Amino acid sequence: HIPVIAIDGPSGSGKGTISQILATKLGYHLLDSGALYRLTALSVIEQGIDPDNTEAVAKAALNLDVVFEPQLDGEQKVLLNAQDVGVKLRLDETSAMASKVAAIPAVREALLTRQRKFREKPGLVADGRDMGTVVFTDADYKVFLTASPEIRAERRHKQLIEKGVDANISHLLKSIIDRDERDRTRTVAPLVPAEGAFVIDSSHLSIDEVVQQILDFIGF
Ligand code: C5P
Repeated sequence: HIPVIAIDGPSGSGKGTISQILATKLGYHLLDSGALYRLTALSVIEQGIDPDNTEAVAKAALNLDVVFEPQLDGEQKVLLNAQDVGVKLRLDETSAMASKVAAIPAVREALLTRQRKFREKPGLVADGRDMGTVVFTDADYKVFLTASPEIRAERRHKQLIEKGVDANISHLLKSIIDRDERDRTRTVAPLVPAEGAFVIDSSHLSIDEVVQQILDFIGF
């Protein structure tokens, strides 16, 4: 049995950073499932695929030529067709398209096998929206991380500025609220806590505090 820790929640809840820290601490593999939806979105944008052509979008998802290269600092370099797309993946246009393609059932289906292949010894930290509800329903531990939209917009803003990307905070807040609404109300894999998930509101917690709560939860 290969253990899985599922960390689900909306963007800006701290999931990405916290999953990275946990994976490093535990020596586990890391699945950034959001990156797969972002990569699909980027392929759609760059290949000029009509996002309403669900068959073509699902095909792009199935055929992603992607390599994740873990870096020493816990970050992952993402190569799409051998090109580093780290910055492009985080652009607002890519984020908006990601949640659009993520609502297509055939796209989610196309990415299932790819996601499950990340479950390798000694274990996996899986970061996403449906890790505990769909992809790894038998996960050993399920965590649902959340935070207020305002705090999440501030965090995303800071992250973008650090990456040298110009960003407007009120625009980010609006796009976060829109994206949440779409993610929560879509018919496939809506963003809701898995049954029995440990729910953490990180609005007023530091990263270390959240990590500690999860380590306590999994008894590490
Ligand atoms: O987590 P991240 O913000 O990178 O995810 C980008 C988008 O991909 C989300 O807005 C969501 O629509 C979608 N997603 C998803 N299921 C996942 C991970 C991400 O639907 N497991």
